[in-house]
Amino acid sequence: MKYYLGIDIGGMTVKGALIDQTAAIKSEGSIATACEQGGEAMCNNIARLVISLLEKSAISKQEIEGMGVGCPGVIDSLNGIVVFAGNLGLKNFPLAKIISEKTGLKVKLTNDANAAALGEAKFGAGKKYSDSILVTLGTGVGGGIVINGKLFEGGNSAGTEIGHMVIAEDGKPCTCGRRGCFESYASATALMEQTREAMRNNPQSAMWKTYNLQTASGKTAFDYSDCDKAAKSVADNYIKYLACGIINLANIFRPQVIMLGGGVSEQGENLTAPIQKILNAQIMGGNNYAPVKVVKATLGNRAGAFGAAALFM
Ligand SMILES: [Zn+2]
Repeated sequence: MKYYLGIDIGGMTVKGALIDQTAAIKSEGSIATACEQGGEAMCNNIARLVISLLEKSAISKQEIEGMGVGCPGVIDSLNGIVVFAGNLGLKNFPLAKIISEKTGLKVKLTNDANAAALGEAKFGAGKKYSDSILVTLGTGVGGGIVINGKLFEGGNSAGTEIGHMVIAEDGKPCTCGRRGCFESYASATALMEQTREAMRNNPQSAMWKTYNLQTASGKTAFDYSDCDKAAKSVADNYIKYLACGIINLANIFRPQVIMLGGGVSEQGENLTAPIQKILNAQIMGGNNYAPVKVVKATLGNRAGAFGAAALFM
């Protein structure tokens, strides 16, 4: 049996998993990121997490094939360097080298969204397919692309920023500086904005029964879309935006499956079924020849750690 470590760095916590080649979990855990104390402190915490994962699983360091790390930000995966990670306060930080020195393990680094895409591709909703795309609907729209079972990362591993594909020219401003990005319309943040706007414009809406402008979430419109016109309109429009970006990706890459992750994907069939319907109607050449399936991702917040571990498989 071969064993692998996967580490997923988040803004608040670092998650880790020790798995075998079938993705059976031997141990898992988490630790504070501690990035406010600097990169070195963060790496010390990761090393502590690694030791506890090894102890809990009773697997020795010598039995580990390698440790993959998924980290937010711009990542030079070839050299294991965090080029820039604003949320972690890191710039040109040789993370792979430092963690390797602290743990004595071989370390590979990739972007956290790419790690999640590889995790879903290898062990989650994409495991039956060779070509898959993960679209995560959270604070932003992230994701990754797997072609022939391998991550496609683009030049200097800086590509596949699918959230910054424009779907509405001269549309809503985006944090990247352009306007009309997929992320400005299809992220959970955008859905919440769209929901609050509909609530402000429709004081009679049923959404006010259990939500106010502070508590409105990515769930609100979907909760009431069966019985309330304003809510249905928000959900329908959101689905339209999301389908637009997804069909663009489908037309360019023609993967066998597009997997939806992140908070909004909890809607499950409420989201995947109408998007599949729009995709079937609009995809270039129809969806019978080389069909593209739209499904919910299945690994949840384990996708990143699993995918990071898979960097050594
Ligand atoms: Zn953008």
